[in-house]
Amino acid sequence: MLTPEQLERYQNQLSLPGMGEQAQIKLSNSRVLVAGLSGSGAIAAQLLAVSGVGTIGLLDDSVIALADLHRDILSSSDETGKSRIESAKRRLNHLNPDCMVELHELQLDAHNAEELLTPYHLILDGLDDWQKKLLASDTAMHLNIPMIHCGITGFQFQVFSMVPGRSACLRCLFHQLGREDLSRQDKPAINFGPAATMAGSLQASEALHIIAESGVTGCDELIQFDCLRREFYTVRELGPRADCPDCGRTTNRNQ
Ligand SMILES: [Zn+2]
Repeated sequence: MLTPEQLERYQNQLSLPGMGEQAQIKLSNSRVLVAGLSGSGAIAAQLLAVSGVGTIGLLDDSVIALADLHRDILSSSDETGKSRIESAKRRLNHLNPDCMVELHELQLDAHNAEELLTPYHLILDGLDDWQKKLLASDTAMHLNIPMIHCGITGFQFQVFSMVPGRSACLRCLFHQLGREDLSRQDKPAINFGPAATMAGSLQASEALHIIAESGVTGCDELIQFDCLRREFYTVRELGPRADCPDCGRTTNRNQ
């Protein structure tokens, strides 16, 4: 049951179709891990916090850099050199004191991935490194945890909702997109700030729909946007590969 303060805080959201009190309680009971905070993750974390997600885990080991502030709107100029997730925790607590924030100031790797992801109901991919994205996908698929993927390159971004048992994993997605040369990309892409902002908003929207079980989530669709062309593209029917070791053998634990 929501408290009188929560009823007031979320009253506009509660009146949206499909977002009643039961949906709000699901958000309040949910645990979301935001992996990577230097771009879309910073935007998504704020939207999840103000929307009432009960617990947000932050995974990032970087420090705030002046050169990143054009796309990292959780941080400010006077915080350069300081821990990014410590700053993010202060900001999120300020935005919504109801939101519990858990910090994981380290890098995702093959040794810690399962332990890090297991306590969460949903993973939000704000990682810079494509190999870490694949590791997060493999682990989330193995653990039966939905993951909202985001990739940003320059003025373009893409968002894909990976729901185990209902959609392809990232390896299948990249195979179908003909992007299997990711291992050669050893530097983070240079990104346009508004692309990160739009991607993070779209990721938060997908995450809230999945957690609250409202609206429609396109589990076999990839959404792409080009800020220069100002056009959305939707790539449909991105199902799992028959020979994929991860896809198709899991069932969605949220169903
Ligand atoms: Zn797959």
